[in-house]
Amino acid sequence: MRLLVVEDDPDLNRQLVDALKEAGYAVDSAADGEEGHFLGDTEPYDAVILDLGLPALDGISVLERWRQDGHKMPVLILTARDRWSDKVQGIDAGADDYVAKPFHMEEILARIRALVRRAAGHASAEIVAGPVRLDTKTSRVTVEGSPVKLTSHEFRLLSYLMHHQDRVVSRTELTEHLYDQDFDRDSNTIEVFVGRLRKKIPGDLIETVRGLGYRLTRVGDG
Ligand code: CA
Repeated sequence: MRLLVVEDDPDLNRQLVDALKEAGYAVDSAADGEEGHFLGDTEPYDAVILDLGLPALDGISVLERWRQDGHKMPVLILTARDRWSDKVQGIDAGADDYVAKPFHMEEILARIRALVRRAAGHASAEIVAGPVRLDTKTSRVTVEGSPVKLTSHEFRLLSYLMHHQDRVVSRTELTEHLYDQDFDRDSNTIEVFVGRLRKKIPGDLIETVRGLGYRLTRVGDG
């Protein structure tokens, strides 16, 4: 899962990026509204954290432009405390959720998890595919109850496929959602990670759909 943070306060921006990376997401960040708008307009994000008070272009305008252009990614806005009108304006502009500053990082993480889950059509915090269970809260994966150790890239790959199970996901889509902007992308890497993942979870769970990509099937019977 890949996220975008748009926040002009450098300390807060760094704290958000660090916490989200720590939680297993690929993260891009922008320090003003113009750069933030550009990234959200050109890169596919699974969710965005958007501050409202931004230089160059304010957060409400950024959000309105994205929505006018048909971008549907979940957006969590950061509002000033006690500014109820900001929340109303933000939600009317197309925000999916808000958190008032100052906030606890745990609240941001929980709300982002819920937004990402909901956008992929999952209501529960635990996502299940056959014998594999992914706890989105703890980022733990088990196969028939036994914990499986995954690297951060393997985890991102499995998490994306599980969120979007029963659908063919192309290599391009995976590349776009697993790596941040600065990552040196190599289309072969996806195949390598899929190969490694197949050794850690039942191998037939991830199906290769020739010429199209990969599909994680619920039943795991190939
Ligand atoms: Ca600000």
